Amino acid sequence: MECDYVRANINPDIIHAKMMPKELIPEREKKLSAARGKNYSARMYTVYVGLNKTAEELGIKDYCIFFADTSDSVQEYKNILGGYDSNNFTIFLCNNIVNPDASPAGTSMGFFTSMGNREEWSDLSPEDYVAYKNKYAAKFIRTLKERAGIDIEPYIEEICVASPWTFARYLGVPEGAVYGYETAEWDAMMARMMMLNDDYPIKGLRPIGAAGPRGDGYSSAYVCGRLMARLALRDLKEEGR
Ligand SMILES: Cc1cc2nc3c(=O)[nH]c(=O)nc-3n(C[C@H](O)[C@H](O)[C@H](O)COP(=O)(O)OP(=O)(O)OC[C@H]3O[C@@H](n4cnc5c(N)ncnc54)[C@H](O)[C@@H]3O)c2cc1C
Repeated sequence: MECDYVRANINPDIIHAKMMPKELIPEREKKLSAARGKNYSARMYTVYVGLNKTAEELGIKDYCIFFADTSDSVQEYKNILGGYDSNNFTIFLCNNIVNPDASPAGTSMGFFTSMGNREEWSDLSPEDYVAYKNKYAAKFIRTLKERAGIDIEPYIEEICVASPWTFARYLGVPEGAVYGYETAEWDAMMARMMMLNDDYPIKGLRPIGAAGPRGDGYSSAYVCGRLMARLALRDLKEEGR
């Protein structure tokens, strides 16, 4: 199908590797996307729980609780990327606090979120996969009990664990990295924004989404989409279209 302009919500390394004739990709772009393709952001991990008691009965008062292990965010990030032994970071959310009808009367539901690194999930053998992802779930359920005094374990009716591979399969995000490329050092938001023109030299193609210049998260993805739409309009206008 032909079109005048593409705004692709796909990581540029994938566009370049699988969706474009190699001869149309400038050398600088090949290098850049290959480097970024080796440096995806943290891999997503979540545990969803359906509970046969209400949030009130369980003592859950907050919609969202962050369990940080340290106030040193650099150390925290290292801990997260260190894998199971050092990763004690999780966020617990209870849907019923903001939406009492999120689950049937007498019950509640919630989920834990955390992240991991590439190696811990890639190097797992298929035989070890289920035990490993469930080991993390048990750890976070324990964290909620030990650090917030909320014991949900006896009341879990349904539990579902989503590893980075689950997100890779169902969301189509490479290796479960829902936050696009890691934003760090020479490749953080400021540097990317300053290189907006140089970084997108292929006419008629502007990648958007979490792997775009503004980096990860809902808000960044929205703002990036708007920015790239305006740049696309500028490009089209300059070409007299
Ligand atoms: C469990 C979870 C919790 C999160 N929590 C937060 C949070 O609290 N705060 C925050 O800021 N961010 C959070 N995020 C991250 C946030 O969701 C992402 O950064 C953001 O959605 C990225 O937007 P995107 O448009 O790049 O990708 P997406 O929202 O993933 O959109 C990409 C779209 O492309 C589609 N697609 C994929 N492959 C193809 C294909 N081949 N053809 C056609 N369509 C395709 C997908 O189905 C999807 O609809 C969370 C993510 C997850 C998974």
